[in-house]
Amino acid sequence: MSNKINALRGMHDCLPAEIGYWQTIEGHLRSLFAEYGYSEIRTPLLEETRLFTRSIGEVTDIVEKEMYTFPDQNESLSLSLRPEMTAGIVRAGIQHGLFYNQIQKLWQIGPAFRYERPQKGRYRQFHQADVEVFGVETPDVDAEMLAMLARFWQRLGIADEVKLEINSMGTAVSRAQYREKLIHYFEGFMEQLDEDSKRRLYTNPLRILDSKNPELNEIIAGAPKLLDHLDPESKEHFDLLCQQLDILEIPYIVNPRIVRGMDYYTRTVFEWTTTKLGSQGTVCGGGRYDKMVEELGGRSTPAIGFGMGMERLILLCQACDVKANESAPLLTTIFLGEKATLQGLAIVESLRNEISHVEILTNLGGGSMKSQMKKADRSGAKYALIMGENELEQDIVILKDLRENGTQEEIARTELATFLRAKLAE
Ligand code: ATP
Ligand code: MG
Repeated sequence: MSNKINALRGMHDCLPAEIGYWQTIEGHLRSLFAEYGYSEIRTPLLEETRLFTRSIGEVTDIVEKEMYTFPDQNESLSLSLRPEMTAGIVRAGIQHGLFYNQIQKLWQIGPAFRYERPQKGRYRQFHQADVEVFGVETPDVDAEMLAMLARFWQRLGIADEVKLEINSMGTAVSRAQYREKLIHYFEGFMEQLDEDSKRRLYTNPLRILDSKNPELNEIIAGAPKLLDHLDPESKEHFDLLCQQLDILEIPYIVNPRIVRGMDYYTRTVFEWTTTKLGSQGTVCGGGRYDKMVEELGGRSTPAIGFGMGMERLILLCQACDVKANESAPLLTTIFLGEKATLQGLAIVESLRNEISHVEILTNLGGGSMKSQMKKADRSGAKYALIMGENELEQDIVILKDLRENGTQEEIARTELATFLRAKLAE
């Protein structure tokens, strides 16, 4: 047995080398959410298990086999780590009266947990950007949400790599009728169905449409379509959404196989998919859940939202050579000799007082001129501020340009801030 303790399977450290992607993506998201009038909400990672079983559905992959569930320490409560964010946000909204007579537009970014087989783009702790709107029944909100996402892909420069697929789940009533037709259809192919699909046939046959088994493609393609069995109101909602997407010039594909992995969806459902990530191709998925607030004890409130897989999005950005934020220090320091080293930090601190928000990477730990110079070169900084005993005495510093052919100039300490400010403005 080794003494070394590693992270759990499927749970990853996010290291500094890749943090630029997270920051770039989160930066675009935060700015877009503000531009479209969304507010941030932060809900707990742990909730009562019954919140998820009641909203997501007993007979779903998530609830049946993917949740991290355990009893609370002292009380006879069953707890679960959130496998998604919608249920927790609905719970919070009901608990704090957020849905009363108003439209709520909310977002949250954070981790979610699912006990799945880890592979590229599929982890046990992953991160979602999640958006929810409460209190709007009309399809304008569906269209605006998709327009915001289309703008997001554009800002990232990956608009050509994702495509929008939409479908309608109708209402619980129209779905119940369709369910019978679907069972009848699949019963005709009993021999060819895989184990999962056989198991699903009488409990949750719509889930078979979502199967990733390519051998079932043909059978599924021939299955009756929910879109042909919609109630008139859901049909109208769907048609209006399609019209608005056409006017917005947002391309989409109507895909009757998009049924989503949770039971709570009604009417509009959608996924943004890419072909660049193999079978983990869904980067973002969502839809309406007009009944959930009521089912969880609130007043009837229509709602729509989506969850976006951050890790998958990062993989896609990397595959598309999207440039990530890279911050480089303006300045690094080289202090030589005891006295200069002793004064060095104070000089840097007074510089920080004079110019706010400037990145300065102090060369902590000292060392010879040669080794400090090596570190300075590696730091990516634009300038090295060099100071030894002579400079200290004369109250000057040497500024070496590390990028442009290493030119050096002497600058009075009192002029340093002004000089650097001018450089920053260039
Ligand atoms: P999939 O069909 O790929 O399992 P899902 O339908 O279970 O996805 P959702 O519940 O809709 O996924 O979650 C929203 C998004 O979160 C997904 O589109 C995906 O980008 C991401 N996601 C879901 N599960 C995982 C996971 N285990 N690891 C990483 N990202 C995930
Ligand atoms: Mg899944």
